[in-house]
Amino acid sequence: MVRNLSILGATGSIGRNTLRIVDRFPDRFLVKALSAQSNMTRLAGQIKRYRPASVAVGDERCADDLKALLPPDLAVDILLGESGLCQIAGLGDTDLVVTAVVGAAGLLPTLAAIDEGKDIALANKETLVMAGQVVMERAAVAGARIFPVDSEHSAIFQCLAGNRKTDVDRILLTGSGGPFRAVPVEQFESITVDDALNHPNWQMGPKITIDSASMMNKGLEIIEAKWLFDVPLETIQVVIHPQSIVHSMVAFKDGSVIAQLGVPDMKGAIACALSWPERLEIGQPAPDFAALHQLTFEAPDLDKFPCLRMAMEACAAAGTLPAVLNAANEMAVIAFLDGKIGFTAISELVGKVMENHEWVAHPSLEEIMIADKWARRESGRWMRP
Ligand code: NAD
Ligand code: MG
Repeated sequence: MVRNLSILGATGSIGRNTLRIVDRFPDRFLVKALSAQSNMTRLAGQIKRYRPASVAVGDERCADDLKALLPPDLAVDILLGESGLCQIAGLGDTDLVVTAVVGAAGLLPTLAAIDEGKDIALANKETLVMAGQVVMERAAVAGARIFPVDSEHSAIFQCLAGNRKTDVDRILLTGSGGPFRAVPVEQFESITVDDALNHPNWQMGPKITIDSASMMNKGLEIIEAKWLFDVPLETIQVVIHPQSIVHSMVAFKDGSVIAQLGVPDMKGAIACALSWPERLEIGQPAPDFAALHQLTFEAPDLDKFPCLRMAMEACAAAGTLPAVLNAANEMAVIAFLDGKIGFTAISELVGKVMENHEWVAHPSLEEIMIADKWARRESGRWMRP
């Protein structure tokens, strides 16, 4: 069966890995739509190669740059901004939407795809962090299936397959601990952008790489897991596993644990989301256990990584707090990458914004968007000298 794909965020790390899988299976996947916010040169290359009917770009200027890079006789519908992104997410002739946009920008297009009943390969974890309840409810109503792309969630999804949810005791969400796991907290003040972008195991976009360094990423993943698998926070336990070979595990009530293992490369999780329950030959070898020697595990340090603790607090409180945590974190990460604030200021900023927030317990989508905007303004206010 040929699957028609719309890839949101095609020029990014997940987007390009998705296209590498398409390259191996040209008779299985057709690219109907692509999007990118920047890097029109890369997008133009993708358009020439995959010939999508539609693309969505950030604004008019991007569209002009893109047209200048394409042969005049190449027919492609160029759509703009958030509404363009939502349009290509809901296109009639696509059946699987890969949401590989980074940040809060992923929420509305993902909902647009869900409302059209599309299958979703969900990479954009911020969607579930901000509005997990709304998203899962709307997916249930529309009959849209959500296949996780995040490696841990793909692992949990695979471990749960064939088992009864009522038999689950705990979800063991693994994380590498990032580049600063073994660095003493006293040295955190002097962490540079280059240090934080140097992840030991995974090649990813800049935002998630910084989130991995602060361990906010693991916190966002707890919230993502809560909504995806419909389990309370208490059921999810973070386990630090520096080798990133065990992608996550599920413990059952008989004391049995099922783990999913693989080399740290996102193509495995993406391929699962594109073709589940079939497994594709993506040319990825299984881990070489003899060469690995050992796999190690330890508890996370919540004092050293306050972002993880705050994300757990936001997860427990629910309502608008996770969206506020997410928005403040996005602002802080951008400021850190721009050299405007230091590494330790990321968690300080998120903490301050969360403290000042007037929490709404059962928010509508509109109230979530208002909380997101408020948190961005509040973050800006906090950062002004
Ligand atoms: P990236 O920065 O490499 O790529 C992001 C893509 O989104 C690009 O195509 C970019 O043009 C587009 N984009 C950026 N801002 C946008 C905006 N405001 N509106 C519309 N499009 C925008 O990011 P990535 O590492 O591929 O991550 C994408 C998503 O997948 C994130 O939510 C991340 O948390 C999640 N994820 C990534 C990995 C990974 O290995 N990279 C692993 C797990 C989950
Ligand atoms: Mg992950």
